[in-house]
Amino acid sequence: MRRELMEILACPVCKGELTLTATTVEADEVVAGTLHCATCNEDYPIEGGIPNLLPPELRRAMAAEAAQSTRGAHP
Ligand SMILES: [Zn+2]
Repeated sequence: MRRELMEILACPVCKGELTLTATTVEADEVVAGTLHCATCNEDYPIEGGIPNLLPPELRRAMAAEAAQSTRGAHP
């Protein structure tokens, strides 16, 4: 994601401002890092240049589901 995107990004829970912490930057693009909401005390990951702004509850539910499906849902 480009840093300019910060201007339009907001916390999915409280619609508050997010603080960018970039761990990997390539050619003006934030490839990896986190977006932090001080109000919710929540971190949203940026992976592969894509900010993951799912509400934390949903993100955890999806991660749990993904872990289950790799074990093989079909008998
Ligand atoms: Zn928030």
